[in-house]
Amino acid sequence: MPYTMRPAEFAYHRPTTVEEAIGLLASDEEVRALAGGHSLLPMMKLRLATPTALVDLSRIPGLDGIERDGDVLRVGALATHASVAASDVAREACPVLAETAAGIGDRQVRNRGTIGGSVAHADPGADYPTVLRALEATIVVQGPNGGREVAAGDCFVGIFTTALTTGELVTEVHMPVTKPGMGGAYAKHEHPASGYSVAGVAAVLTVEGGSVARARVIIGGAMPTPMRATAAEKALVGSAAATEAIAAAAEHVAEALDSPTGDTYASAEYRVHLATVLTKRALAAAADRAG
Ligand code: FAD
Repeated sequence: MPYTMRPAEFAYHRPTTVEEAIGLLASDEEVRALAGGHSLLPMMKLRLATPTALVDLSRIPGLDGIERDGDVLRVGALATHASVAASDVAREACPVLAETAAGIGDRQVRNRGTIGGSVAHADPGADYPTVLRALEATIVVQGPNGGREVAAGDCFVGIFTTALTTGELVTEVHMPVTKPGMGGAYAKHEHPASGYSVAGVAAVLTVEGGSVARARVIIGGAMPTPMRATAAEKALVGSAAATEAIAAAAEHVAEALDSPTGDTYASAEYRVHLATVLTKRALAAAADRAG
């Protein structure tokens, strides 16, 4: 096959309802949804993806909202990274989400790429999956058999692989509003050309009475899916989240990375080193915010 940078032939559909989109997607597992196109179209041009048809979601109204509903921030699947970054509601309800969106790729990527596309694509170097897992977000999905909710911790099951089944669409992402005493932060070492994380760490802490009551530390980019650093979390709970306790907790990060990725960007050893350093940074920032 010559290297053409042209996708193989495909049909194009532009539904105006979720139901219509699901019907098209469920008709054949080679039919793919099209959101911002910033991951799918490059893959099609490289013939790494050869869908028989694309279902363009952009004309379906109501999928790009960002709103607070009590203690939950609801972000529509078609909300672009730029709109999340600029949203006063998101910045207030879940600062780490808005900051993460602001750090994705470049302006062009942020203007087109969507949260639903990033979740469904499940790139190991993507930022949202790591942060959504730390926030204990819920992925809201609709499909031929109705709606369901998937915990972010269960959603990312392998490289470019999620728990979604044929015909299912991500429609929303829900996350708990960051309350007083809680702090979240994301630190990444990004590839200088694309912005993708070579490794990235998201930390969410709850501090009560001066000590850590709850900790979530998730390592992205270093394994096929975002990994929970349970030993680091345990080491931190009960401490005052001071510099020494954070450094000691970060030393446990390697335990979560039993077969770290090594590739042309970074060796496995370097990724583990990055994860340890970034954990310290993310925890220090999260502790600062949690007060
Ligand atoms: P698309 O490309 O349209 O779709 C991606 C996949 O998800 C396809 O399989 C599609 O069928 C499926 N899909 C899309 N929407 C849905 C839905 N609602 N329900 C079910 N399936 C769906 N990402 C980062 O996290 N950090 C970065 O620093 C970063 N840098 C980038 C730099 C460049 C140059 C580029 C091109 C991309 C970069 N990205 C980065 C990826 C970017 O964030 C993409 O926008 C994102 O991964 C995919 O979102 P999309 O809306 O473009 O999805």
